[in-house]
Formats: sequence, structure tokens, C-alpha cells
Amino acid sequence: MMAKMYYEQDCNLNELKGKKVAVIGYGSQGHAHALNLKESGCDVCVGLRAGSKNWAAAEEAGLKVMTVAEAAKWGDVVMMLVNDEVQADVYKKDIAPGLEAGNMLMFAHGFNIHFKQIVPPADVDVVMIAPKGPGHTVRSLYVNGKGVPCLLAVEQNATGKAYDLGLAYAAGIGGARGGVMETTFQDETETDLFGEQAVLCGGVVELMKCGFETLVEAGYEPENAYFECIHEMKLIIDLINKGGVAMMNYSISDTAEFGEYVSGPRVLPYEETKKNMNAVLKDIQNGKFAGQWIAENKNGRTFFNASRRMLAQHPMEVVGAQLRKNMLWGDDNDPDTASN
Ligand code: NAD
Ligand code: MG
Repeated sequence: MMAKMYYEQDCNLNELKGKKVAVIGYGSQGHAHALNLKESGCDVCVGLRAGSKNWAAAEEAGLKVMTVAEAAKWGDVVMMLVNDEVQADVYKKDIAPGLEAGNMLMFAHGFNIHFKQIVPPADVDVVMIAPKGPGHTVRSLYVNGKGVPCLLAVEQNATGKAYDLGLAYAAGIGGARGGVMETTFQDETETDLFGEQAVLCGGVVELMKCGFETLVEAGYEPENAYFECIHEMKLIIDLINKGGVAMMNYSISDTAEFGEYVSGPRVLPYEETKKNMNAVLKDIQNGKFAGQWIAENKNGRTFFNASRRMLAQHPMEVVGAQLRKNMLWGDDNDPDTASN
């Protein structure tokens, strides 16, 4: 089963000509979408809370700024780029009253539509353009003539133009230079949650933490454990990202490659890991995880905040911060981690 892909030649930016595009939020994705669309010739405004610290920043970048409610009313296209966990409230209060028949409501992630936290009226288009990369990369690649690949999904096609408009939007943020893959809100939501939980964030952090603790408990210096199990992760991943596992194996020693085959399956026993991953996937598919996350937000985030505090105190974080600070180039010049 091959995915349907679209590139720039399949997109017509003119579909957005004469349309007003409201980008709600000016965080990681918001600033990138707003600036890229503007430079692609679209009529853009940013919707923010009155008093938001981003208000001045967006204006300084040359963007029109309005309150969220004003922007939603002004826009023919309204892209929701506030945090997923506040979207339902923002939608009810400020977006829904400004939506008119024939408008297009857009998302960069499917959570709120798929889990029915937001139920738009039937007479608007509901479309997702989800960049598969951080917002700061959506911006920096665009500036360099490239683009972060995107997923396209259409939940409601009230006007019959939802695909054309969605593809035009993808071209406007530079995504069509990298490729736009068609999917559904359901598949994007489930695979996105699974990837971040099982592999990218949950899996990787547990793996690094466990490796770090194993070395430190065996008496090795925490600095050494940090370099081995955490710092080097990026260097290894960069090789895989560039040329697959083969390029990493080409670059590491044969000893390391032999160890990869012998010990990888020992630390992550395939059958057991697979069983656990399937259980995680099932809880995503049946809505159990979504329910937990919605409840956590309603209950003041006790578990979330405690987990965050505990992690901040973990030696791998404390030692790592010290080592990165002392690196000659410092640790705060990276646009992906600079605060916005
Ligand atoms: P972010 O946290 O970086 O920015 C959210 C913005 O919304 C901030 O400017 C914040 O001030 C503003 N905001 C918060 N509450 C608000 C409110 N009540 N009213 C108005 N504005 C409010 O978020 P992000 O990472 O850019 O995520 C936005 C969307 O993009 C989400 O749906 C997310 O899933 C999706 N997404 C993010 C990434 C990523 O790498 N960051 C990648 C793909 C998709
Ligand atoms: Mg409107």
C-alpha cells in the first residue's frame, strides 16, 4: 500500500489568492506558518490573546495581529496552532463564533478532531496540514528554499475545494517542496502519538536513562555516562537520518556493529518489546490515552508536573546541562531550543 504524494507541481498557490488566512498562535509552528505564508504572497494575520508577549514579536516581524476572536472572524482560513490541550476551549470561546459557512478550519495535528474535543459545523472544510518537523525547522528550511514534508488530511470537504486549498496552504509554508503525503485525521493522530510514545520521546528517553544509570551504578563517572549514552545519540541518529542504518554501520567500527547485532536484542527483547508496543498502540486506538491526557489537564496536571520535576533533578540532566554549558560554543544558539 503506497501513500499518495503531492509536490509543488500538484499545488496551486493561487487557490489562496483573495483568501484571508488567520494563524492562531505564534509558537513553534505559528510563527513559521505565518511568516512562510506571508512571504509566499498570502494575506495573513496572527491571532493572539490580548497582552500576549508574542504580540510585539509578530508585529516586529511585519505581521498583522488581532485577538483570536477577531482573527477567526476575519479569516476565510483559520489555522489552529495553539497547544493541543487548550484548543477545545479556545475553539469554543473564540473560534466557533467567527466561522462562517464555506470557511476552512485547519489543524497541524489531529488530536482534537479525532477524539471529538472539537466538533466543527458541517458547512466548513476541516483540513490538516501537519509538518513532520519542529516549527523552527519549518521556518529555517523555507528560508533556505527547502521545506519540511507535511501530511494532508481532509475530514470535511464542505466546499468541494478542501484538497486544492489544503495543498495550496502546504505549498505556502514550503511543505510541498519536501512532499505532502495524504492521510486521515485518525491515522495521523494514532501514528503521531505512537511514534512519540513508543520510540521518539518515551522510548528514547527511557533507553538513555537506563543506560546512563547502569554505567553510573557500576561506578563509572556520570560525565562519561552522559557522553556515551546521551550526547552521542544525536551523532548516531544524524548518520541514520542521512544514509540509513547502513551509513551508521559504515561509520562506526566493526566491533560496534557486531555489538549492535549481539546486544541490541538483549536489551530490547523483541517479542516482549513488541507486546508492550502493541499495548501502547491499543490504548491510543481505543482512546484510553487521550482520556488520561484530557483528565490530567482537567485535574491540574499533578502527575505531569511531578514527572517533569523529577526528570529535571535526574543526574543525567544535571550533569548534561553542566557539560553543555562548558562546551566552547555554549548551548543557547540553537533556534530549535531558543525560547520564543
Ligand atoms: P507552541 O506551544 O509552541 O505554541 C502555542 C502558542 O499558542 C503559543 O504562542 C502560546 O502562547 C499560544 N497560546 C496558548 N494558549 C493560548 C490561548 N488560550 N489563546 C491564544 N493563544 C494561546 O505549540 P506548537 O508546538 O507550535 O503546536 C501547535 C500545533 O502544531 C499543535 O497542534 C501541535 O500538535 C502541532 N505540531 C507541532 C509540531 C512541533 O514540532 N512543535 C509539529 C507538528 C505539529
Ligand atoms: Mg472566519
